[in-house]
Amino acid sequence: MNGPRCEYCGQQIRFFESKDGATMPIDWNQDPDGNVEIREGVAHVLTEVEIEAAALCGMESPRWMPHFASCEGWANRMRDMEKPTAEERMKRKEAIEVVELDKWRARADLR
Ligand SMILES: [Zn+2]
Repeated sequence: MNGPRCEYCGQQIRFFESKDGATMPIDWNQDPDGNVEIREGVAHVLTEVEIEAAALCGMESPRWMPHFASCEGWANRMRDMEKPTAEERMKRKEAIEVVELDKWRARADLR
């Protein structure tokens, strides 16, 4: 079977609409540790309480893992987004230089 692939890690994934209409990438294979249940083609994110309650009643349904929870490529991308850009680094450098200059001036005033 050839489903869509994740553009960040290349793994095969499924897309489902969530109940609020957003498109959710979901791991291809079922995962008992996942928190997403598919009901009539719609992805429902379950709370821990709902999962525990279903387990207690013996009413566990198949579950899937949201792909962004397992995707390495996505995690890397998020890390990259937190890295400062060249422009931000320049701003920080300038800020440090201003502080250094003020210190130097303060020292010069003491003399
Ligand atoms: Zn991925």
